[in-house]
Amino acid sequence: MSEDFRFSTLGFIGLGAMGRPMLVHLANKLPPDSRIYVFDVVEQVVDEVCDQFPERILKGSSAKDVAQQVETIITMVPEGSHVRSVYLDPQYGVCSTDISNKLLVDCSTIDTATSLAVKDHIAQNFPTASFYDSPVSGGVVGAVKGTIAFFLGCAESDPNVKRLTHLMSLMGKQIIPCGGPSLGLAAKLSNNYLSGIIAIACSEAMDMGMRSGLDPRVLSKVYAAGTAQNTICDRFCPVPHVYPEAPSSGGYKEGFKVQLMRKDFSLAVDMAKRVGSKNVLGEIGLETYDGASKDPRCQDLDSRVVYRYLGGDEDWQSKVNGS
Ligand code: NAD
Repeated sequence: MSEDFRFSTLGFIGLGAMGRPMLVHLANKLPPDSRIYVFDVVEQVVDEVCDQFPERILKGSSAKDVAQQVETIITMVPEGSHVRSVYLDPQYGVCSTDISNKLLVDCSTIDTATSLAVKDHIAQNFPTASFYDSPVSGGVVGAVKGTIAFFLGCAESDPNVKRLTHLMSLMGKQIIPCGGPSLGLAAKLSNNYLSGIIAIACSEAMDMGMRSGLDPRVLSKVYAAGTAQNTICDRFCPVPHVYPEAPSSGGYKEGFKVQLMRKDFSLAVDMAKRVGSKNVLGEIGLETYDGASKDPRCQDLDSRVVYRYLGGDEDWQSKVNGS
């Protein structure tokens, strides 16, 4: 293996639903002499992963402590405020120690303004350090299976692309350089906006068809054959029991939580405003996901539960002849 790709010391900060399985892939796949220093504000999860991989994974006492031990850091925390704290906290943040020449990769889904602010701070104070946004898609199941996609905030010609691609391919399948700083996030938010809108539109279209007397399986075939064909209708159909492996068919249990869709949708609507993009579906979409994420019938379930929120019939099978 080329010296450049060894990652003999790596830091991982944020060991939640996504971060922990990503860390497990790294612990299993990095060369045996690599050491991973980890930190999370929840100490228990740090202790658990250290016990799971003794010697390989080592406990850090803060983001700063991790930064002092390693050359490369991956961060995976919930929101922009957490990313600010991890990097910019004057006492315990990554940037409160000398991070010259280090490679820093934030995989959190946050607003582009915060990501750029962190990048600017690093560029001004540590010009030889490199910071990248690299949000992911594919959910917890993808993180566990190692099939997530990374949307990397840099150009294909960036000098670190090969090194980053190597590192990310240990945790996921597709790595897409999106063109420049914060564009990984812009791509991710644009994707989730589109996916969220399609889920609402598919729920409404299915509902109106079913209320008119159509079997949703027939509707699904029509969409697939017609101009409405898309992945949400095909593989994540919001109506239960149309596609057996869709989260809806398992009680909306496995999938992308509606609260996370609400968060990403809101970030996308803010981004659209900031860049002056006309967004006729934004406010109504946000209102819908906001309502669904607060509805006890929908909370913590896959975001395609928006079909339930909008009053769709989930018990359609009992009314369809011959099913
Ligand atoms: P999570 O809440 O399960 O985990 C976040 C972890 O970060 C927690 O363990 C928390 O204790 C830790 N943390 C918070 N603040 C910290 C700090 N200051 N220092 C150190 N650790 C801190 O969240 P998640 O589901 O793992 O999501 C992480 C990011 O990935 C989010 O931005 C989310 O939008 C994005 N994402 C999630 C999914 C998904 O399906 N869960 C899919 C794609 C992207």
